[in-house]
Amino acid sequence: MNLACQDTPWFLGINLNKILSFYLGLKDTLSFLCPTVDFDVLLYRHEVVGEVVEVGSEVTNFRVGDVVGVGVIVGCCRNCNPCKSDVEQYCNKKIWSYNDVYTDGKTTQGGFAQSMIVDQKFVVKIPDGMSAEQAAPLLCAGLTVYSPLSHFGLNKSGLRGGILGLGGVGHMGVKIAKAMGHHVTVISSSDKKRAEAMEHLGADEYLVSSDATRMQEFADTLDYIIDTVPAVHALEPYLSLLKLDGRLILMGVINAPLQFLTPLVMLGEFLPLCLSPSPRPPSLALFNCKFF
Ligand SMILES: [Zn+2]
Repeated sequence: MNLACQDTPWFLGINLNKILSFYLGLKDTLSFLCPTVDFDVLLYRHEVVGEVVEVGSEVTNFRVGDVVGVGVIVGCCRNCNPCKSDVEQYCNKKIWSYNDVYTDGKTTQGGFAQSMIVDQKFVVKIPDGMSAEQAAPLLCAGLTVYSPLSHFGLNKSGLRGGILGLGGVGHMGVKIAKAMGHHVTVISSSDKKRAEAMEHLGADEYLVSSDATRMQEFADTLDYIIDTVPAVHALEPYLSLLKLDGRLILMGVINAPLQFLTPLVMLGEFLPLCLSPSPRPPSLALFNCKFF
């Protein structure tokens, strides 16, 4: 195999023939955590685990034979402010790991390829003892949750957090928040996922958003809420659950305008919006958490 690393010395080549992609990894892991969901419909394959087979001359952190993971980004401009601030997901010239093009015009194919080349900035070494099936979900859903908690200084024990919505990102949100030592409340629109949240994922509380009495009991109790709901929904009921200076972290991709009343925000709750990152230095500690 000669990937040539695009003649860019900081790229490295990864063999994915022994592919353990998002689909395989997430299916195995989440099928265990969430037996009611049909993960056969998921075929994104943008989180891959493979073996390094070639390194450019400026690759310093990896050697041939290392088992590594790659998330949703494989390259960036390296010169803009986001790139110099370890938040390359906001670089205007970032290269997605699938359905995008490298600077030489070739298409990125994510985990569908037999091999891929990646800027070493976006590669993480999989720790010894962590299986590929365990690592794969961390490379997207895991990082998506871990990154804002870390970025906003919420990566400390003793906090009370809410996870709104219990899909793939929500699952990882509960696991990661618990690993950080948080008291975790899952907030859902119905009672259907109570057993999953409490028994499979280890959440501390389960709150049905239509239960006005319970919602009132939780007013001003949460340090943050990670909102993973990918559909238009009212924000005010959840803003009310936050303490002063609490944060409602919006992570659901919604293709319609969201509306909210400004007084609650003016009274002290924040609305950060975050884009899923790749495994960059601020997020690497995620891979040393003990989830499984
Ligand atoms: Zn850039």
